[in-house]
Amino acid sequence: MSEFQPLAPLALYDPFENMRFSMRNCFLCGAPTTPPQDTVPVFAEWLMTRYRLHERQIKLLDMSIAAYQDLRIACCPTCRTHHVEPLEARVELASREGTRGFRDLDEQTLFLWLGKMFYGVLVTELLNELDPLAKPQYPLAENAQLLRRFQAFYQPFQALRVPMEFEDFVPGSVFVLETDPAQDDMPFEYDDDLSTIAFSIKLDETVLVACLVDNGIIRQAMSRVYQDAYRPLHPVQVAEFKARVYYAAYLLNVVPDYYPRSVKPGDAEVVMDTLIDDITGDIFNPWDNSAYGQSLLEMWKRWQIPLTEILRDPAHPLTFLYDADGQPRYLSQYPEA
Ligand SMILES: [Zn+2]
Repeated sequence: MSEFQPLAPLALYDPFENMRFSMRNCFLCGAPTTPPQDTVPVFAEWLMTRYRLHERQIKLLDMSIAAYQDLRIACCPTCRTHHVEPLEARVELASREGTRGFRDLDEQTLFLWLGKMFYGVLVTELLNELDPLAKPQYPLAENAQLLRRFQAFYQPFQALRVPMEFEDFVPGSVFVLETDPAQDDMPFEYDDDLSTIAFSIKLDETVLVACLVDNGIIRQAMSRVYQDAYRPLHPVQVAEFKARVYYAAYLLNVVPDYYPRSVKPGDAEVVMDTLIDDITGDIFNPWDNSAYGQSLLEMWKRWQIPLTEILRDPAHPLTFLYDADGQPRYLSQYPEA
C-alpha cells in the first residue's frame, strides 16, 4: 500500500474511484483512520440525545436492524474538528429556533447537513454489502446507474471539507415544512430512498424533505405546491408532500455532471460548474397516477388509507393539500369530523 499523501487544501477526493469505502479511510478526505476512535455518528450526538435515538432502531436495506448509535462513519480528527462538528453546531443552534431557524439557514448548510446523514447511511449500506454474510436483494454496489448518481452527489457534497462555490445552482432540492403542533405527536421521524437520494427527517414540528442530487429541479417543479404548503400542516398533508417529492425523485431521469474549475495559486475556494444533459432524454419520466398512488399509500401507512380510496378517481388521486377547486386546504384534523 502506498503512503497516504494528505490532500492539498482545495484538492477534491473521490471515494467512488476504486470504491474506497471502509472504516479505515476518512469519508471526507481518505486519510487513514483507526476505528472506533476515528469515527463520527451518522446522526449527531445532539440529535440522538434530544430525540432519545441511541437505542432506537433503523432498518437497513438488507432488512438487518441497527441501533442509531451504532451508525458511525470513519472520519479523521482534522475533518471531525474542522468540518463535521462545526456543521453540527451550526445546525443545532439553528434548530433551537424551530422551523424559522431551519428556514434561516443557508441552502448549502442544509444540503451538507442532510447530505452527511444520507451519505453516512449509504456508506453503512455499502459496507454491509461487503459483509460475506449479507445477501442484499438489490445490491447498491452492482448498479452502475445508481453508483453514478451517488458519485455525482459526492462532488458538491465535498463542500463540507473544501470551501466551494456553486456557480449559479443549488445541488439539491430542500424543503422545510412545518406541522401544526396541535395535530402532531411524532417528535422524530426519518426515512430515505437511497436509490433516488430522497431523504426526510422530522425534528419536532419541522420536517425537512430533500432530493439531494437534482440541482434544484424538483423544487422548481414543485414551487407552487411548496408555496401553498408554507403554513402549519396536518401530518397527513406533510406525508402527501413527501410522497410528491419522493415520486418526483423517482421520475427524475437525469444525473447532473459537475465540473470543478482548476485551482490557481491564491484561490481560496473551488468553483463548481454543473451541466444537465436534457438533450438526449426528458428531465422527468412521465407521471403515472397509479404509481404516484403507491407512493401515497406508502407515506399514508400510519393512517391506513387504502389504495381504493386514494385512486377512487384515477385521474385525480386523493389530496389533502388541495380542495376540490384546487385551492389550498386547511385540515384541522384527520379523519375529519
Ligand atoms: Zn479527513
